[in-house]
Amino acid sequence: MSFNPIQALSKVRHEFGEHGGVNMSIEASTTFTVMAAETMPAIFMGDKGPDDGGCFLYGRHFNPTVYVLGRYLAAMEGTEAGYATSSGISAIACSIMQLCSPGDEIVASNTIYGGTFALFKEFFPLKCGITVRFVDIANLDEVKGAFNDKTKAVFTESISNPTMVVADIPNIAKIAHDAGVKLVVDNTFSPMLLSPAQQGADIVVHSLTKFIGGCSDIIGGAVCASKEFIGSLMDLHTGAVMLLGPTMDPRVAFDLSLRLPHLGLRMREHSRRAQFFAEKLESLGIEVAYPGLESHPQHSLISSLLNDGFGYGGLFAIDLGTSERASEFMNDLQQNEGFGFLAVSLGYFDTLMSCSASSTSSELTDEELKDAGILPGLVRISLGYTGTLEDRWDQFERALKRVKMV
Ligand code: PLP
Repeated sequence: MSFNPIQALSKVRHEFGEHGGVNMSIEASTTFTVMAAETMPAIFMGDKGPDDGGCFLYGRHFNPTVYVLGRYLAAMEGTEAGYATSSGISAIACSIMQLCSPGDEIVASNTIYGGTFALFKEFFPLKCGITVRFVDIANLDEVKGAFNDKTKAVFTESISNPTMVVADIPNIAKIAHDAGVKLVVDNTFSPMLLSPAQQGADIVVHSLTKFIGGCSDIIGGAVCASKEFIGSLMDLHTGAVMLLGPTMDPRVAFDLSLRLPHLGLRMREHSRRAQFFAEKLESLGIEVAYPGLESHPQHSLISSLLNDGFGYGGLFAIDLGTSERASEFMNDLQQNEGFGFLAVSLGYFDTLMSCSASSTSSELTDEELKDAGILPGLVRISLGYTGTLEDRWDQFERALKRVKMV
């Protein structure tokens, strides 16, 4: 039986507002009153938290509203605990920094969001003394071969940005755990569809900016993991979130908490439409990367990992051959057809499209782009659900015809 994130979310204790409101109140306080002076030292020692006889301390530490969002996200991922951060990249950076010290190494997929790639390749070695070995995450021998006694974490996206390579989480987790290494999975592309923690991931991170937010209006991130790991991020002496400070504002956490109840419905519709587009494109002989197609190299793998009923996700990538033709196509779709926006990011209710090699993966060198399979004319499309599916496909097909792809 696959994990059911909708059921898990429905079982989590609902947080009512202060006056019985159906929605929780926003605890817009940066500091909290301790009812007895003696409790204060115990809170500072980490002996008494909000769940064990103490209370909340300070807004950069846990905040009650953000805490509730963390609880909901943890339920969705099936982890013991969760907490929200001010961005997806801070959730990734803090998780890795919490696991590693200077001199340590991480093994990471070579096809990941360009910002994460730059963080690992440039920032970490330069500023933190943490080095990375990039691997083809689909090649488990290569993953295993990259380990040594300094390796502390493996990082991969569940479905990679932008090449749609699927990570074999159960087997990567096994390789990692046999070596005493933690597996960190970025599940930004596939909330609800995939539940990496159920398959062995130790830490699941999200950019809430994408599908979970769903409206391209909020930057946010999350870490879902054991209670111990979430606690370590907030440690007053060594916690990366507490001491670097990328905590989420409670007003933002409140907003995001209202997006979770319909996330499953939204993901289903994103997936239904992307599956339709991918099948149509394939039938026209266009090269399309979408894990829902039987021709996708890891179609059976992802089919065995997916939770029931959410499809294969809302993103696909097509190869337009050259960057010039990719630009011509995207300009035409946006300007003439009025379908989709030429914009980075993903998970919006409308369609977003960008040419990855020259945008969200431009941090990679030509060689790295080649290794990762990110071709110059590869257009990543995050398919929205506005308009009718039939009209949208007609618009898309007309634009393809105008650039002579069909
Ligand atoms: N992970 C993935 C897969 C992404 O695509 C992005 C951003 O595009 C991030 C993480 C970073 O998230 P944020 O922009 O919320 O910091």
